[in-house]
Amino acid sequence: MLEENRQKCFSLRLTLVYCLMQKMTDILSRKMRSEVMSKVRSSKTKPELKLKKLMGKFGFSYQPKNIFGKPDFSSKKNKIVAFIDGCFWHGCKKHYRAPKQNYKYWRKKIRRNIERDKEVSKHLKKQGWKVIRIWEHDTKNNFGKFFNKIRRSIKN
Ligand SMILES: [Zn+2]
Repeated sequence: MLEENRQKCFSLRLTLVYCLMQKMTDILSRKMRSEVMSKVRSSKTKPELKLKKLMGKFGFSYQPKNIFGKPDFSSKKNKIVAFIDGCFWHGCKKHYRAPKQNYKYWRKKIRRNIERDKEVSKHLKKQGWKVIRIWEHDTKNNFGKFFNKIRRSIKN
């Protein structure tokens, strides 16, 4: 009887250790995930702030409120909204690299973002907005292309 109890106790302890280990890996991966996110986020906001000033000259306001899909810029006068799509978050074909950690999680998340982008654009167009989407990399490396896009949208 005593021996049996000892055995039970042992297996219970094993289960407990196992549960703890599970919990720990979960916490660890969550921590890594948020680390990746914060790195990406901080690199996204810098170019946006530089653009804020330049876009202002074209009559765009930065992060306008109360517009569906939270565009980065809008010109109410010209009825234009502009989105700067981050290469990571919006799955740019040139620069998106899936993180090796939690590969499936990221793949699903980015795919969902791309789907949502399409839905947002469609909805805004229905509301009469002209929608411009510009890749983050074009705002950094290809300023000419970026501004031509903006200029054209205003003229048309
Ligand atoms: Zn890119």
